Amino acid sequence: MDDSQSRASIDPLAAAHTAEHVLSAVMQRDFGTGRSLETHLSAKKSKCDYRVKRPLGEADVRSIEAAVNAEIARDLLVTSFVVDRAEAESHYDMGKVPEGAEAIRIVRIGDLDIMPCVGSHVERTSELGRFVIRSATMKSDRVVRIRYALMPGEHIETAALCDEEPQVLSFDIEISDVFELGVGEDFETYAPFHISVAATVVREGDEVLWYSENEDGSPALNIMRQRARELLEYLSRMQDAGYMVCAWNGLGFDLRWIGHNAGDMRTAAKVARRIYDPMFQFFNQRGFPVGLSAVAEGLGIGQTKLMSGADAPVAWRVGHHERVMDYVVGDCRMTNEIVMAIQRAGCIRWVASQGRVKSEPMERLKTAEEVIQDPGPDQGWMDRPIDKASFYSWFPE
Ligand SMILES: [Zn+2]
Repeated sequence: MDDSQSRASIDPLAAAHTAEHVLSAVMQRDFGTGRSLETHLSAKKSKCDYRVKRPLGEADVRSIEAAVNAEIARDLLVTSFVVDRAEAESHYDMGKVPEGAEAIRIVRIGDLDIMPCVGSHVERTSELGRFVIRSATMKSDRVVRIRYALMPGEHIETAALCDEEPQVLSFDIEISDVFELGVGEDFETYAPFHISVAATVVREGDEVLWYSENEDGSPALNIMRQRARELLEYLSRMQDAGYMVCAWNGLGFDLRWIGHNAGDMRTAAKVARRIYDPMFQFFNQRGFPVGLSAVAEGLGIGQTKLMSGADAPVAWRVGHHERVMDYVVGDCRMTNEIVMAIQRAGCIRWVASQGRVKSEPMERLKTAEEVIQDPGPDQGWMDRPIDKASFYSWFPE
């Protein structure tokens, strides 16, 4: 049987129902919900309600969608077996099993989901096609209603599973702390830093700003702990979903201060080990750091920085929020393009102080963890070398 025949034979209701299993497993795993409270399935559009711990935003919705599609693309097998009631009660969630049923059918979806169910299912998750969330509305502040549809036969471009280039997501933070850096003075003298606003930008995709609001709805001076946590969770989930999560100096700077503002250095370190930080990789090869705009220029990326990093705290404090937001989003877009350009060219190029364009081979981008494990740079020729370990000395333990 070829592909088109097997697709034609798929029962759309079985597909919608199997998708509900996958969605519920993702909601349980990533958002700590129970199974769906109420569901309504149809061939065209289905809806499920979940009890959540906090209202979900647009970024949450897109990450749920990405996580479900990642599971679908793993092509998990759907299998079933029958156990007696006593055994089922001791192992599985019996919430929806009617009383009196003695032989209980257990449905397993790969390593993702296992639960009692009498419904009909597809045989493998890849048969579902692309999963699309049409809307997610808060029915109350603790119940979200997700409406979804399936696009059977549509190819899922999930980074982890395709031969194609993974999707790139860059993030960046701005701080609100104002200080004048003396000549030769270490930036770290002025730590700890407070985040005013952060941005996450999926290349050719979603752009999200992360900040907190005052009671009157205006942007607050600093991000609140809860919002910083949401940012950290989002980055972690996007990594799980196969996105190539990148940041310029994100290991030594951004994730350290996201972790600090979220009060969760452990999760920050976990995310940090998995990011791609071309600046840290460059440092580990050459022994000195390089600026984002020098690299953008060297690689011929026609984007200029919209302000200087040092001006952002002042601009934020005097109420030029939009300018700072544009700036932080702009730097994320620039990082995305730099990542693409490095991968295409197999090298990184930058404009050195004399205005000359220099080049350094970079055949592939590595995770921060890989770079940490790589041998350190040759710094024998330098007067005051920066210590490699200073980029990750903030990791707990
Ligand atoms: Zn089922």
